[in-house]
Amino acid sequence: MRILIMLLAFSGSLYAADPAIETLSDREFAFEIDGSRISVEIGDRVLRSKKDMLLEWVLYSAKTIHQYYGRFPVKSVHINLMVTAGNEVRFGRAFGGDSPYVRIDVGENISTEMLRRDWIMVHEMVHLAMANVPQAHAWLLEGLATYVESIARGQRGHLTEDHVWRYFIERMPQGLPQAGDRGLDLTPTWGRTYWGGAIFCMLADIEIRKRSDNRLSLRDALRGVLDAGLSMHADTSAMKVFEAGDRAIGVDVLVPLYQKMKTDPYPIDLDALWASLGVTLQDQKIVYDDQAPMAHIRKRLFES
Ligand SMILES: [Zn+2]
Repeated sequence: MRILIMLLAFSGSLYAADPAIETLSDREFAFEIDGSRISVEIGDRVLRSKKDMLLEWVLYSAKTIHQYYGRFPVKSVHINLMVTAGNEVRFGRAFGGDSPYVRIDVGENISTEMLRRDWIMVHEMVHLAMANVPQAHAWLLEGLATYVESIARGQRGHLTEDHVWRYFIERMPQGLPQAGDRGLDLTPTWGRTYWGGAIFCMLADIEIRKRSDNRLSLRDALRGVLDAGLSMHADTSAMKVFEAGDRAIGVDVLVPLYQKMKTDPYPIDLDALWASLGVTLQDQKIVYDDQAPMAHIRKRLFES
């Protein structure tokens, strides 16, 4: 019992139990997480009949984000759940400014099982943790949301490491430069925006670990970006974000990597990278090699 209590104390959670859900009206609910207020609007009657499972999903996602960033990234957010056809979460969008707002389309036949599989709520909440940047840097926003969503859910134990590595190994090649592509700031295609941005984030995560004897990670740099006030409440440039991140970790990783990747295609040999991390997909199975040169870094990426 004593050990269990100590483990709970060191789990990084700042709240002992789930926060109470306030009912503000027949369609609006709210809860607080570590001083941040999250209000949830469910206008549709069919979705409202599933309010308990929907609010649990919002809370679970908020806790995943809280664990990764060490806080909920904005002081308040309004989440509007809109009904659509089908049985899954279909689409989301986050808007910044003084009063951040997230809109998510949820299928009328949604189930607990499908909510458990959803990645969109966490993806949109990652957007809350980054300042608005000019359109040329959209790859930073979507790359972060793509990469951090998987890593944060892996650290929470919501996804297995096998699942995340398979996802990265299968999908990340979509972010590699195609013939004629230039750097991330100059090639706003879907692949370069989402997965090219995710490659940037993964390279940064690995490099920060290499440069800090595996003590620090991209997560520490991103917490520093929030410390500098650069959540979705703020407007800034990608360079200011990277300067704040590098300042927080005390090593220059983000700015030099950005300088390499912003205008140059900067092709990466992903297969060689997976091999050096000691993770490969063989006959549809994820296989680990603990003798690989960067296996020690790969092993710590999912530690919370
Ligand atoms: Zn997004």
